[in-house]
Amino acid sequence: MTAQDYVKQIGHELHEKDANQAEFLQAVDEFLSTVTPYLENHPEIEKNNLLSVITEPERFIQFRVPWQDDEGNWRVNRGYRIQFNSALGPYKGGLRFHPSVNLSILKFLAFEQIFKNALTGLPIGGGKGGSDFDPKGKSDGEIMRFCQSFMTELSKHIGPNLDVPAGDIGVGGREIGYLYGQYKRLREYDAGVLTGKPLEFWGSLGRTEATGYGCVYFVNHLLAYNNDSFKGKQVIVSGSGNVAIYGIEKLQQLGANAISCSDSNGCIIDPEGIDLDLLKEIKEVKRERLTAYKEAKPSATYVEGSLWDQDIKADVALPCATQNEINGAQAKRLVANGVKVVAEGANMPSTLEAAEYFIANGVHYCPGKAANAGGVAVSALEMSQNSQRLTWTKEEVDERLNAIMKDIYETCRDTAKENGAENNYMLGANIAGFARVAKAMLAQGLV
Ligand code: GLU
Repeated sequence: MTAQDYVKQIGHELHEKDANQAEFLQAVDEFLSTVTPYLENHPEIEKNNLLSVITEPERFIQFRVPWQDDEGNWRVNRGYRIQFNSALGPYKGGLRFHPSVNLSILKFLAFEQIFKNALTGLPIGGGKGGSDFDPKGKSDGEIMRFCQSFMTELSKHIGPNLDVPAGDIGVGGREIGYLYGQYKRLREYDAGVLTGKPLEFWGSLGRTEATGYGCVYFVNHLLAYNNDSFKGKQVIVSGSGNVAIYGIEKLQQLGANAISCSDSNGCIIDPEGIDLDLLKEIKEVKRERLTAYKEAKPSATYVEGSLWDQDIKADVALPCATQNEINGAQAKRLVANGVKVVAEGANMPSTLEAAEYFIANGVHYCPGKAANAGGVAVSALEMSQNSQRLTWTKEEVDERLNAIMKDIYETCRDTAKENGAENNYMLGANIAGFARVAKAMLAQGLV
């Protein structure tokens, strides 16, 4: 069979088997659309049917999460953990608490995480988990009871050398704190079992900022390679979680003008540049909606609906909200408005059609599994610090993060070129990440 036929066959089989898992199939299709050149030079992949093996999670766990709300009612949510691949290290990846969470979304996230984590060059495998619990509007006590119930079951399946969860959408320092407290009660004091911990108990300095900073560092290296810089660049950013907030912070430090942010209801466009203190106050302290930004700063515009439906001239776009936020038509609008670089702070924010449109039109498209790897990279540095029983300075963590992002950028760029697809970082990221995992799997005799 030719490499191309083998890739097609795997895609076909998965579409049959997991027909109802749209997001997982989307992530697999994107991956498969890029790996043929590597397979052509590496017959051992097909010989060992490695594509079949790597697209099947090692295991997944689904459990009941009963919890009591403030009125005393018993409520039930679904909890999950996908342990996708452990060739390079303990399963590693975040927990997402959001009503949209289901098996398909977590499988797509865990699948992407395998290659993202491989690209960091650190010893971490791929996993993801979460729940369809909606933290919006819940009291602190409800969040705590939910986290305790969730961890009561999850604690049976994780450990510092087995599976190390962290945050994602809906899970930040507060939730990690409650999850850790329950783990410690049930098992033992081992800080290395979760990352993204608060600084009060062995979290890493710089972890909160890492995904946003890392995404901007990635683009900064790309711009520098092309004799350009962020100075004076107009940047649109979506999202208003920690990826967007710290992406905007780093953009401002590097002299760019970041003019937007968004939440699930609408977006803020502030031509003067986002007021970061105000945004942090609204999102991190008060946990309010973005309408509060407009109230505090009348010069900004608030528009209901998607940021990507607005006509805004910009040089760079950082989608930092969630999966599939940019479709084909919206990608066209971005290109028409002058966007030359799209770097994904979120996981799979561009549909495959959008990503392919960017690449075909000469946009430097930086896929999430490369551009947003800074978060999990600093998580791995947090694991190193916890193993050493030491903490590093913020400067040391930040320096390492920047070096890791430079290495990921160069790896994607060079791998794309070596495979005859210059500037296709999607192909570069997929092949480079896959090659590392595949070599480890073959060396371990896992197939
Ligand atoms: N949720 C983040 C991601 O998508 C971070 C995961 C981690 O730190 O383990 O990569």
